[in-house]
Amino acid sequence: MDAPLRLRLDGDALVANYHVLARMSGAAACGAAVKANGYGLGATAVVERLAAAGCRDFFVASWAEAAVLAPLGVAVSVLHGVRDTDMALALNLPMVRPVLNSATQVARWRASGGGRCDVMVDTGMNRLGVSVAEVRAGLLDGVAVDTVMSHLACADEDSVVNVRQRAALIAVAPRVAATRLSLANSAGIALGADYAFDLTRPGLALYGGVPRGELAGRVAQVATPEAQILQRRVLRAGDSIGYNATFTAPGDMEVAILNIGYADGYWRGFTGRGAALAGGRRLPVLGRVSMDLTAIDVTRAPDLAEGDWLALDFDLTQAAAQSGLSPYELLVALGDRFDRYWVG
Ligand SMILES: *Cc1c(COP(=O)(O)O)cnc(C)c1O
Repeated sequence: MDAPLRLRLDGDALVANYHVLARMSGAAACGAAVKANGYGLGATAVVERLAAAGCRDFFVASWAEAAVLAPLGVAVSVLHGVRDTDMALALNLPMVRPVLNSATQVARWRASGGGRCDVMVDTGMNRLGVSVAEVRAGLLDGVAVDTVMSHLACADEDSVVNVRQRAALIAVAPRVAATRLSLANSAGIALGADYAFDLTRPGLALYGGVPRGELAGRVAQVATPEAQILQRRVLRAGDSIGYNATFTAPGDMEVAILNIGYADGYWRGFTGRGAALAGGRRLPVLGRVSMDLTAIDVTRAPDLAEGDWLALDFDLTQAAAQSGLSPYELLVALGDRFDRYWVG
């Protein structure tokens, strides 16, 4: 491990977050959304830890993502269902099943004799899913459905849409011979026991994101970017720094140039707002974040030298407010120039 950029991943925090969400899911099983490479953390390492903690149901977007996890021998559901070109893989990964989304996918799966599957029913998000009317008309008759699921559009708000979607899932359920019902993502879990059904599907909150106030203080940060100081330099009063000279030193000051930038997912939105952390000190970003480099103020940190490592302030709620991005975008954009390492 020798990249000048690394992502510290707190395994104890990940597992503790899982246990919090499993407890909040009550009698329902608690699964895990691990699409987009485990929300940027590294899907294989996340699944290994969550499986050891008791998680039995994992969700990815694509068959390519499922194939990465297949050697782990865990049950994986592919949220985007099956295209024709996925069928060869779909019939050869025994622990992986599709979440069928459309009448075309249902017909394809039936024709293949594909066996157990999940089904997404659209209850109002109008993104993916078969319609309630299609199910009522018998679309799923004779299909071996493990989990029939729907997805909440507004779980992070107190919206009547949540109530309507829940009622629609309950109303359609008797028409499907499914083993389990599933509705809640992270925010949906925080809506309470009425939304848990048989299986919950948290993603963001496992990784420390807080989509609703009920989860604040209950889930902990998992991922922290750490960058090496490439150079320490002095700015004289009146000197500017970075592209477009957006910051000018009001007096003499000292800066450290960190090996991280927007190509790593440390976005330009952190310009003038983000910070590095060192021994309880907050060291603000100065000037524009570049593609590969970020400058921070180390005037009050004379001990920091070239080659030292600094953590970036990456509390997801605060970092989202600073950068203008969602906590989801911040996580999944963490790039592949990081060495990912786990503690705990
Ligand atoms: C991504 C996803 C989840 C997880 O959502 P979070 O908001 O990250 O908890 C659950 N269900 C479906 C269908 C998803 O696409």
